[in-house]
Amino acid sequence: MRTPLIAGNWKMNGSTELVEAFGRTFSSAALPSSLEAAIFPPYPYLEAARRAFAETPLRLGAQTLNPLHSGAHTGEVSGRMLREFGVCYALVGHSERRQLYRESDEQVHDRLLAALGVDITPVLCVGETLEERDAGHTMQVVLRQVGYVMARLEPEQRERVIIAYEPVWAIGTGRTATPEQAQEVMAGIRDYQAGFDRDLAAALRLLYGGSMNAGNAAELLAQPDIDGGLVGGASLKVDDFLAICQSAG
Ligand code: 13P
Repeated sequence: MRTPLIAGNWKMNGSTELVEAFGRTFSSAALPSSLEAAIFPPYPYLEAARRAFAETPLRLGAQTLNPLHSGAHTGEVSGRMLREFGVCYALVGHSERRQLYRESDEQVHDRLLAALGVDITPVLCVGETLEERDAGHTMQVVLRQVGYVMARLEPEQRERVIIAYEPVWAIGTGRTATPEQAQEVMAGIRDYQAGFDRDLAAALRLLYGGSMNAGNAAELLAQPDIDGGLVGGASLKVDDFLAICQSAG
């Protein structure tokens, strides 16, 4: 059985007040026993979140990381540093980083390797733009993004990767992929992995992201190949994020 994961990506949002509200609510919240839940706050909130979440099931994630351990890289943060703050997961290849900061597949791969190297579980984000979907290129784009990284990993590294499918046109738009659209792409990613190893494909954890909210989460999470969610906007509202977690049981 694949353990479900609900991950809240706060992007460049949040406050210490919000961190504390999550700590209070989740310290007494009943979550499905098998669920993993994590918040990915901006870096400056990691220490406050570590303290506030200590008595909760919430784990911590990072939104990106530099591939190097240390050095003259002004403004950057390494996986080794994140590990010191109890970070368990890191997003790599989020579409906002690919688009706004021009991250290439190669850079995504380097960041993913860096995460694995410090025992942080990478969440590889992939997804097509609206133009690519309309042109019928969805699977081609998604499998290029997945394949570039996966083909360069050792089998035991592949086992430790989580993949998040986030159609770019569904991010922050309120326009969610239908459960069928999401399921179709997820099944395609799992099939691709089966080309390496069937057991690995069966164990691969796949998250859906893109306007997931308390109202649509249950239907998306009920799809056979969707093992969790990567939630943006709705993860900034403690009640909504809790409701999404509760629908993942
Ligand atoms: P929204 O849930 O706001 O669409 O964001 C999704 C996302 O990009 C999570 O990484």
